[in-house]
Amino acid sequence: MRSWFMTDEKKTEIIRDQVRRILEELPPEVTLIAAAKGRTAEEINVAVQSGVAIIGENYVSEAKQIYQQLSKRKTEKRIQWHFIGVLGKAKHDVLRQKNLRMFDMIETVDSFELAEAISEQCGKIGKTMPILIEVNSGEEPQKAGILPEQVEQLVLDIADLSNVRLMGLMTMGPRFGDPENSRPYFIKTKKLYERIKSLDLENVEMNYLSMGMTNSYKIAIEEGANMVRIGTKIFGERKA
Ligand SMILES: *Cc1c(COP(=O)(O)O)cnc(C)c1O
Repeated sequence: MRSWFMTDEKKTEIIRDQVRRILEELPPEVTLIAAAKGRTAEEINVAVQSGVAIIGENYVSEAKQIYQQLSKRKTEKRIQWHFIGVLGKAKHDVLRQKNLRMFDMIETVDSFELAEAISEQCGKIGKTMPILIEVNSGEEPQKAGILPEQVEQLVLDIADLSNVRLMGLMTMGPRFGDPENSRPYFIKTKKLYERIKSLDLENVEMNYLSMGMTNSYKIAIEEGANMVRIGTKIFGERKA
């Protein structure tokens, strides 16, 4: 655990080193998302300055605050914002037009109703929102995401919507101390991804497979992830 008495300078150095190290080791086809929940604009800015191009946000209120603070700074780089939180609770916030303008991708769509609502609202602002379907690959009752066997029907339904564009799948998988235990769930999600890709549907591009976090991303990449969402390894342990 990184301690609270660390100086800002030390913290900056650690974030910078961690981002560089991760970016160096990731295969070129794998995109890094900095999972930024609970982090300050300062911390996130260091990550961005060190090479992070996509920020993953779980909460709309946090995203808005950070977005505003980072937009004020002069950077040549355009940062992208992905919503990676539970949509069930945040639905009304996410669906506000100015929030839909802020997000470049919503990774956690798990029902037709949500996709339809996003499409409808995006239609009003002339935007087509890139989305991923979140798969509950562990089939855990309390978890967000759609069950694996229901994914294909959802894909077919979403393909008809005019203002969302399905671009891939996302999964969390069950949490394990030993990330090796996550492997079967990553394999299962990758199979689904390939299956949907093979359908070659209009208005569906299977380009992104977002899976793997700090303790599991290496295994996720071995099993085909091309987007990883990393928080702790970049920013340190979250304060409880
Ligand atoms: C917090 C979070 C992550 C990153 O988790 P770490 O273990 O801190 O790397 C990834 N994905 C989602 C959806 C998260 O909420």
